[in-house]
Amino acid sequence: MLIECPECGHQVSDRAVACPQCAFPVAEEVAAQANVARQQAELASRRIKGEVDCPWCEARGFRMFDETDASGATRSAFSWCTYCEHTGRVTLVHSAAGYFAVVDRVVVSFARGELPVEHEFVHALGSQPPSGHRYPHAGKRVPVSDGAQASSGGGHREPNSSRPAVAPADPWNSEGDAE
Ligand SMILES: [Zn+2]
Ligand SMILES: [Zn+2]
Repeated sequence: MLIECPECGHQVSDRAVACPQCAFPVAEEVAAQANVARQQAELASRRIKGEVDCPWCEARGFRMFDETDASGATRSAFSWCTYCEHTGRVTLVHSAAGYFAVVDRVVVSFARGELPVEHEFVHALGSQPPSGHRYPHAGKRVPVSDGAQASSGGGHREPNSSRPAVAPADPWNSEGDAE
């Protein structure tokens, strides 16, 4: 295909390394423009698709970490996951670049194309849609304030099941037990 050299206006092949008239790097310019077009197409193609398991906590809603106390002993502690705010779910977004798990509080900006895919609250999932959820229900949301990290959430309670996020449905142990 013949294009106009952006420098001198000479007709030149879009595959020419340089313009024969003025030596402008045509191939480089064509590649850069194609790259910009691809990026813009990706930004415009972002669509919210629903929910996906939180990749930062593997849908558990909390994260375990080792903690060293004053005596130097190490023990296991946990904190609510600040990415999914304890729900174990974040938002699923699809675009020309594939599927992404996106933290809820930035998903509107992300879907508008205002955030790059290399954002700390965006996790690339690849080209295949995620299959189902690890747990049938999302956990109850525990909002986090901006900048809140590890120790702000659930303190040092140990989770007593594989998923403390979901309260067990127990009709025999209702509140206000009259005894
Ligand atoms: Zn030229
Ligand atoms: Zn999470």
